[in-house]
This record gives sequence, structure tokens and C-alpha cells, in this order.
Amino acid sequence: MKLDVALPQHQYTLFIERGALKQVGEWAKTLWKPQKIAIITDDTVKSLYGEQVVENLSKAGFDVSVFSITPGEASKSFDSAIEAYTFLAEQGLTRSDGVLALGGGVVGDLAGFVASTYLRGIHFLQVPTTLLAQVDSSIGGKTAVNTPVAKNMVGTFAQPDGVLIDADVLQTLEPRRVREGIAEIVKSAAIADIDLWKKLTSLENEEELLEQVDELILASCNVKRKVVEEDELDNGNRLILNFGHTIGHAIEATAGYGVVTHGEGVAIGMVQMNRIAEEKGLTPKGTTEELKEMLVKFHLPISHTPWNEEELYEALTHDKKARGNQIKTIILEEIGKARIHTIDTEEMHDYLQV
Ligand code: NAD
Repeated sequence: MKLDVALPQHQYTLFIERGALKQVGEWAKTLWKPQKIAIITDDTVKSLYGEQVVENLSKAGFDVSVFSITPGEASKSFDSAIEAYTFLAEQGLTRSDGVLALGGGVVGDLAGFVASTYLRGIHFLQVPTTLLAQVDSSIGGKTAVNTPVAKNMVGTFAQPDGVLIDADVLQTLEPRRVREGIAEIVKSAAIADIDLWKKLTSLENEEELLEQVDELILASCNVKRKVVEEDELDNGNRLILNFGHTIGHAIEATAGYGVVTHGEGVAIGMVQMNRIAEEKGLTPKGTTEELKEMLVKFHLPISHTPWNEEELYEALTHDKKARGNQIKTIILEEIGKARIHTIDTEEMHDYLQV
């Protein structure tokens, strides 16, 4: 399956197919002439798939090297970026060479950032290996590193030359990580795709979802594609992708990173936000129940304890989406359709009531 992303400055295609990792060399050859490729990955992904990808790219005529980081968010840093620049320079990569990101969102964000800034920008490819990265971070062109001040504080908008998605790699991913991606698929359906919602509703359980995950990845990426094509630089409607994220980030941050994962935070955030919007008459009655049923079916949490309203409010108003006295929230007009709803920051207290 293929999905074209057409942006004013750049067009590229997502190639979604089980077993596609075994054809990574052939795929890269359709996009690039034989040249140097530096794979940026992490130690876990390298040990699982590194050899196979290196071999495959080499066979296709590329001159391949590998730069690997310690897995985890802490590696999405300037220190890692500087190590990566040094590596690329040592390998002699020029502007006609390229980077291939092989890993989850951490690797994708870091590799995209490094590629888009090294020598003022060289070409890169995304080969996402977590479901979250396959449905979210590898599409849309946001790259980033964290700083001690804030997560994702420094980054670029830079689009890859292509994205290769092989759902077979999810077999080695921890179930809790897989569910993070499922939360984003549920979000995509809720904000912009009623057909995807109906499809998810028709699925019995997680097992059935995973059997059909290619199709769901495609539909979810298509939601993001449409939004990104309309608002690449995130000045307007792209914000609807953040449904559940503002409260979700606050939960993640206050629980201590890792206690509640990003996807779990988003799941809880969507339910909380929607319940209050429903009480305020902004969202049709019954949608929260539908959301809850969907998330529970896929083993995602719908609430969190301890719930410290003040702490959450503090974390949330420090969030980058808080601008002055107002905050932009995302509301479901109905399942399958979201809109931005701007409120006074103080009103956020209402949305944190349990
Ligand atoms: P991650 O990259 O840290 O991967 C999670 C873990 O899974 C890591 O330990 C990794 O080694 C392991 N892993 C990856 N693929 C595997 C596989 N196939 N089998 C076994 N283990 C595997 O985390 P993530 O959840 O993929 O991404 C989170 C990051 O994505 C965050 O930094 C977030 O800010 C970023 N993000 C970016 C965007 C964007 O638009 N750029 C969007 C959403 C999230």
C-alpha cells in the first residue's frame, strides 16, 4: 500500500507493507542513487534489525555505516546530535549522501533533526519501528531534540524523501508500546475519520486489530497527511492532532516520565477532556462512553490516580500550548470531527475536575 504526501516544497510516499524491511535496499534505490547512507538507530533496534538492514542496503549498492544511541528519551538530546554530526563527518558524508532513521520516535526525531541541520541539511529516509512512529512521528516532518528546559524545545520542519513501514517489526515490540500507537489510531479516528472509527468499533479485540494493522496504519497516516498538507507549519488546524494531548502531557509529566506512557496519557486525556466538553454541551452526549469502550477494548487506561488537580493545572499551563491568558483545546463536534476551542486558561480548571 502507498500513500503520497504532497507538500508545496516536497512530495514523498509512504510505503506500507509487511516484510518491507527485507526490501529496504531496493526501496532506497528507487529514491536515491548509490551513495553513502548513515543509519541512525538505537541499540535495541540495532540488535534486532541492524544487520539485516545493513546487509540489504549494501547489496543494493549503498556504502553503509551505523550510528547507534542508547534507547530512550534521554538520548533525544543535543549531546547525541553532536555525536551524530561528528560521526557523519568522520564517515565523510556530503550533501549528496543521506541518513536513514531506523527506530521509534526518539530515533526518528533525532535523525531528522541531525539530517536537516548537518551541512545545512541532507536527505533522509524514515523507517519507523514502533507503532507510534509508524502512525505519527514519522509523518509530518517535525524533528526535535529535548533540552533541560523543555521536551522538543529545538527542532526543524523537515520532510523525509520516503517512509517505509513494515508492521512485522511490531512483533518484537512490547505490548504496552504497541498500545501507545493504538491510542494514536483511536485519536485519528475520533478527530477526523468516522469510517476508521467504525472499523475500529467492528474489531473484537487487540488481536484482531493487529491482524489488520496495515490498513489501520494507512488510514491513520492519511488523517495526519490531510491535516499536515493543510497546515504544515502548525499555525492553525494541525492543532487538532493534539486531541487529548494537553491533559495527557500534564499527566505524563506529573506522574513522572515512564510511569504513564505518552499513549496512555493521551488516552486518559481524551476521555477527561471529552467528558467535561460533554457536560458543557460542546460535544454530543454519549461520545465519552463510546471513547471509553474503544480504549478499554484495546487495553488502554481511561483514568489515572492519584489525580492532583492543582499539580496538573500547573504542568498544563507551563505547556507550550498555553499562550498568555488563553489556551486552545480540541473538542469533538462529533465522533470523526474535531475543532479548536479556545478558552480562558482559568477555565482549564473545569476540564480537570473528576
Ligand atoms: P522510542 O523511540 O523511545 O521507542 C520505544 C522503545 O521501543 C525503545 O526502547 C526502542 O528501542 C524500542 N523499539 C523500537 N522499535 C522496536 C521494535 N520493533 N521491537 C522492539 N523494540 C523496539 O519511543 P516512541 O514511542 O516510538 O517515540 C516517542 C518519541 O516520539 C518522543 O520523543 C516523542 O516526542 C516523539 N514524537 C514525535 C512526533 C513528531 O511528529 N515528530 C509525534 C509523536 C511523538
